[in-house]
Amino acid sequence: MKTLNEYLKDAKAGGYALGHFNFSTEDVLRGIVEAAREAGAPAVMVGTSEGEADYVGMYEAVALVGAVRKHYDFPVFLNADHFKSFGKCQEAIDAGYDSVIIDESKMVFADNTSASKKVVEYGREVSKSRNVEITVEGEIGYLKGSSEVQKKIEISPADYTKPEEAKEFVVKTGVDRLAVVFGNIHGIVTDQEEKLDIEHFKRIVEAVPDVYYVLHGASGLKDSDVQAAIKAGVTNVHFNTELRVAYTEGLHKALHDKPGETTPYKYLKVGVDEMKKVVSAKVQMFMER
Ligand SMILES: [Zn+2]
Repeated sequence: MKTLNEYLKDAKAGGYALGHFNFSTEDVLRGIVEAAREAGAPAVMVGTSEGEADYVGMYEAVALVGAVRKHYDFPVFLNADHFKSFGKCQEAIDAGYDSVIIDESKMVFADNTSASKKVVEYGREVSKSRNVEITVEGEIGYLKGSSEVQKKIEISPADYTKPEEAKEFVVKTGVDRLAVVFGNIHGIVTDQEEKLDIEHFKRIVEAVPDVYYVLHGASGLKDSDVQAAIKAGVTNVHFNTELRVAYTEGLHKALHDKPGETTPYKYLKVGVDEMKKVVSAKVQMFMER
């Protein structure tokens, strides 16, 4: 199996992106992998936030991803999504995650840099001892919002990632991937239009060409915005909220339509099928050139 960085390298050369989708239950994980594979993705990243990891269990997440990889003979990479401390990242790496995002972006630059560097060093040490490649993503610039439907989030260019800071951060930490902020916010906002500042992103890429760029908070963005970001150098796109909404709406509908249905796999499947449509549409959108 190729490594995650090798898949990202191919994506960069080919001008497309790999999807990153979140799960906290086995049915959603399997649905993501089935949909990504059917839609023609070369590989897929699946992630658990700290909350999602607490629910499913880190060892369980690792075992489940191992099982679906085998079941579908398809490359699936498990990522610890926005883990907020060195300790949490260490737990994920020890449990067998393929990748972690150390997110200390709320901290001052120096603290974010030193925490991220520590995670990179730990990841390299464990990679060596296990003969695997554990990759690390850092985040710079504070990405506002949460993976929910919200009314309004104030964002201004002052919140954007500064190109010179991005450069210093990548050089000092050695992260594989970088999450940046240029108009993106986590979740879906209902009372404002979400818009990316592609020109600003291009200035970041110009300052730091040698890292893989990740777009977080893609839920709620127009396809044309996401595709413009991919064209400008994003190789990994995170979607969570839109999947959650589709899954939950499917469940509501199933339970409403057949209130007497008590077989979980029958009503859960309706939610999974709705969620798969979202994954499939996103993957096709990432691959369009
Ligand atoms: Zn994110």
